Amino acid sequence: MNKITNHLPTAELQAIDAAHHMHPFTTDNDLKQHGARVITSADGIWLKDSEGEQILDAMAGLWCVNIGYGRDELADVAARQMRELPYYNTFFQTTHVPAIALAQKLAELAPGDLNHVFYANGGSDANDTNIRMIRTYWAEKGQPERDVIISRWNAYHGSTIGGTSLGGMKGMHGQGSLPIPGIEFIDQPNWYAEGGDMAPEEFGLERARQLEAKIKEIGPDRVAAFIGEPIQGAGGVIVPPESYWPEIQRICQKYDILLVLDEVITGFGRTGNWFGTQTYDLTPDIITVAKGLSSGYVPIGASIVSDKVASVLAATEFNHGYTYSGHPVACAVALENLRILEEEGIVDRVGAETAPYLAEKWHSLADHPFVGETKIVGMMASLALTPDKDSRAPFAADAGTVGYITRERCFANNMIMRHVGDRMVISPPLVITKAEIDTLIDRARTSLDEAYEIVKEKGLMVAG
Ligand SMILES: *Cc1c(COP(=O)(O)O)cnc(C)c1O
Repeated sequence: MNKITNHLPTAELQAIDAAHHMHPFTTDNDLKQHGARVITSADGIWLKDSEGEQILDAMAGLWCVNIGYGRDELADVAARQMRELPYYNTFFQTTHVPAIALAQKLAELAPGDLNHVFYANGGSDANDTNIRMIRTYWAEKGQPERDVIISRWNAYHGSTIGGTSLGGMKGMHGQGSLPIPGIEFIDQPNWYAEGGDMAPEEFGLERARQLEAKIKEIGPDRVAAFIGEPIQGAGGVIVPPESYWPEIQRICQKYDILLVLDEVITGFGRTGNWFGTQTYDLTPDIITVAKGLSSGYVPIGASIVSDKVASVLAATEFNHGYTYSGHPVACAVALENLRILEEEGIVDRVGAETAPYLAEKWHSLADHPFVGETKIVGMMASLALTPDKDSRAPFAADAGTVGYITRERCFANNMIMRHVGDRMVISPPLVITKAEIDTLIDRARTSLDEAYEIVKEKGLMVAG
């Protein structure tokens, strides 16, 4: 019992971890040599580790702890719900109050006619739901041959078979013989890395028009849907040029293909509005949500579905669902999370105050000698590291070598900032204060300075 709070010494915990715990997205043999950092508690934007160090979590866990750590209200609601109704399903003509109340709240918050909620346990399995839902929709409409879903290289849509297949990460496809059939890819709107001499807006249009070319190549009567993250998160916080999304929307409408926006990161205030859909003024047919839906306190995800799609599906039995779809404890906690985000004006404050403040500070890092660009929308931001600012060249070393060095310096300076290749990304809790933003930027700059010295010393400031 006491082992949870009065835990074993760090080295022993690390040894047990190494012996028995297989980590996601980790080379366990490498991890064994360093030992994992053991996180023991958290409050606000601050983590505490087993050595008593305070760490600024500029990633909000995995982009999810929007409300910040340590909110007792969520714990209280979970305990109350567990006592009252810890579990029941909604499969066979039953329902329960938390699932009903959360569905109503999501229908109210989500824009347009996104009025119907299918529950999952996270973002990956919600995207699996989407694949089956989209294909069932077209089959019900008498066009079962419309089964191809178009996605983008370097997209992230999760780690299940379906999520990995929809995602465009080749390193993931390589493990497990993916993608599944019927998924096609176009290039990402990553101007910095792939835009060459084009102006960003011209490049945005060019990348969007790849969708039209791909639809024509496959045949418009074969294409079911296009899926994309409003802003690619795990791909490196890639903010598309302003020209990109309106053109994608136009093309989807022209060919009557469904637009699915994966809002797992961009939902619930991350971009300064409730949804990225609003930030980019889009009208999707389905959005995927998870992460910030419960601020990560419990696992839950969902597909939020338009009247148009839901009304077609309603005519058939959709043979799909998870034992924990609409889990009462998860729904109750998510509902409380949304209440706090709304009633405390957290989303509004991000849009009006803290995100503009963070943006100003973040862009000030652009003067650093090896920072090539700084990007930010709301509370998600990235910067590109480069040996040559003018040409935006990558380093001569393997992609990610310099990013990893920089992340290590951040870690040593007690701040969690992630690297994606040689881009550094942040996504702090939405409750971060201006004073905490100052601390974040100070630590980022110190870490960049230290990393820059190491990179120079190692002779890595060479364009590849
Ligand atoms: C994290 C993420 C997912 C996967 O969600 P899980 O809850 O990890 O299954 C899907 N899509 C996007 C955009 C994500 O960032």
